[in-house]
This record gives sequence, structure tokens and C-alpha cells, in this order.
Amino acid sequence: MPFSLVRADITKLTVDAIVNAANTSLLGGGGVDGAIHRAAGAELLEECRLLGGCETGQAKATKGYRLNCKHIIHTVGPIWHGGENGEREQLQSCYRNSLVLAESLGCTSIAFPLISAGVYGYPKAEAIAIAEDEARKFLEDHDMDITLVIFDKDSFEISAQRYEDIRQYIDDAYAKLRDDSDRRPLMGAAVMNDEAPAKSKKKSIFSRRKSPEAAGSVPCEIAEEASAEDYFSMRDESFSQSLLRLIDERGMTDVEAYKRANIDRKLFSKIRSDVHYKPKKQTAVAFAVALKLNIRETEELLSKAGYALSNSLDFDLIIRYHIAHGIYDIFEINEALFKFDQTLLGQN
Ligand code: ADP
Repeated sequence: MPFSLVRADITKLTVDAIVNAANTSLLGGGGVDGAIHRAAGAELLEECRLLGGCETGQAKATKGYRLNCKHIIHTVGPIWHGGENGEREQLQSCYRNSLVLAESLGCTSIAFPLISAGVYGYPKAEAIAIAEDEARKFLEDHDMDITLVIFDKDSFEISAQRYEDIRQYIDDAYAKLRDDSDRRPLMGAAVMNDEAPAKSKKKSIFSRRKSPEAAGSVPCEIAEEASAEDYFSMRDESFSQSLLRLIDERGMTDVEAYKRANIDRKLFSKIRSDVHYKPKKQTAVAFAVALKLNIRETEELLSKAGYALSNSLDFDLIIRYHIAHGIYDIFEINEALFKFDQTLLGQN
């Protein structure tokens, strides 16, 4: 997954490079810097002494020592002085220089802490936005797994308005679900749905292309006489076929599609080359978002992989909320999923 948010202690991650939010001396400090030095062992400090410090916004690398990484990239974030002193540009440089350095060292995965958002006082929401923006820009023309580590849950914020809207949307859906089951106690688990019903008369984007012979046939006649082989030949387009066709129809390139879906190239190649590939639900949804499908089209694409969007799961409701509001930015959707403790789109 090219960009992910995780709640973790960065010293416990297994990645090619772990980024340290260091100070200009590079001789260790508190916060994440102290944690990294403690976990890596005393040899790290010995190598750091040889580096001669580091300027704000710059990055220098050492070995990983006892950490589960090949390299530690030490970068120095700006101290927050109110935002009028070049803090933003310096923080952007931290991410950019760390990523460029990681790539030059042959790394394919890297984990960042929220640089400057601790003792250095950078407002957390802005620090997160800068980290995401820089990751997004870098990923436009590079392949790398970038993880942003959120240490304490409270340091992750999405706008209060959006949080409330989503919370309300979820609550309303559950209330409606309860109402429906109260009204129809004998019908079992009724599916609450104010969208078009599954057998909508609208033309499906997935209508099967029928052969001229099959066009006039009656399904029950086929059912009586069909052999197992016939059933396979009657099978609908697979997820992989549907996806590739939709990408073409939307005038997108494959690269655009998988980048917008926050899916890495390797996984996309697997889907592309295996006509019967069964993706995880979050992968299928990620492509629906990348392709800007509406709810009905999303449901149809998901059904190709054996999934549906229910009204009784937080994950599904959060996806519904964003699609219904025309929000197709995968980073934005993932922020909301993360805030609500859900699996992220593109996550494997
Ligand atoms: P800075 O001086 O750049 O502000 P800090 O270490 O004080 O650096 O904090 C940077 C961020 O790192 C903060 O969001 C803090 O919560 C987080 N942090 C602290 N310890 C860890 C850790 N072990 N793993 C990941 N993040 C951490």
C-alpha cells in the first residue's frame, strides 16, 4: 500500500528506513528521538557523532542497528514559532529530503513519525496535512511504501464538522435499520436501503455482452440443460475484466488508476494478469473510488468480487458517506477510516 497511516511505536516497525525526528546536534533527545536511540542501542550514537549535526529541513542516514530497519534517516523538523518563519517549507523539506535519501539508499518502504508535532509544537492537523501532501507528491512519480506513524490516538484529527457529519450519517443508518426491523419483525434481517434496489431498471454498467444465440434464450431453459461447462461460460465478467474495462472507458491509464486507488504496482499487475483474481474488499472499494463510481456502480463492481456495501458496518457506511458526497480523494477517505478505527483503502 503506497501510503498508510498506522497507530504504532515506530521503533517496532519492520521497514527499510525509519525516520527520526532529531535535533540539529543529532546526539539524541527526548520523544521519538530518545525512543529510537534507546531501541537501536549505543552504537547509533557513535555513528551520529561522526555526522557533524544536521540543519533544519535536511536529512542524514545511519545504519539501523538493533531496529528492524536497514537505515535510520535523521531529519530535523522546524520549531513552531507561529507559522510565519518558514516552518511550513522546512517541514516539507524534511519529508522530501528524507524520501529522496531513502530512495538513493535503495529503500522501498519508509516510516515517518509526525515530525515537529511533539515538543517542537507544530499544530498536529497541519503537520499531518503536510506529511500527506509530500507523500502524495512523491508517489506521483516514485514507487515506495510510505507509512505515517501516529503515536497517540488523540494526535490524529479530522475536521470536527466532517467527523460529526460522518458520525451522524452512521447513527442515522443504524437508527433506520432498527426502525425497519421493528416494523418487520418476521422478515429477519431486512436490508435498509434508500438507494436504487439491486434489480434497478437502470442500465447496468456491467450488463453482460450476450452472444446473438444467447440473446433470445430463456434462463430456465438453460438451467435445465446446462452442463457445468456451460455454467462457466455463462459466468459474468470477472472483477479483473470489469476493472480493466472501466479504466479504459473512463479514459484513464492503468498507472493513474492504481495510483489514485493507493494500490501498489505489484498488486495491480497480479489483478491484471489473473482474470479470476479475488481482491480484498478494501482493494475493490479503492478502485471504485479511483474510478469515481457512484453507489450503484460501486455495488456492481464489488459484487464481481463477491462483496456488497451494507448499511450495518461502519466501514461500509463511511464509504457510502464519501461517495454520496462526491468525495473521491483516497487520502481524505482514509483519514476518516483511520479516525473511526477502520481498515484503510488499499490496505493489504
Ligand atoms: P519533535 O521534537 O520533532 O516535535 P517529538 O519526538 O517530540 O519530536 O514528537 C514527534 C512526534 O512523534 C509526536 O507526534 C510524538 O507523539 C511522536 N512519537 C513519540 N514517540 C514515538 C514513538 N515511539 N513512535 C512513533 N511516534 C512517536
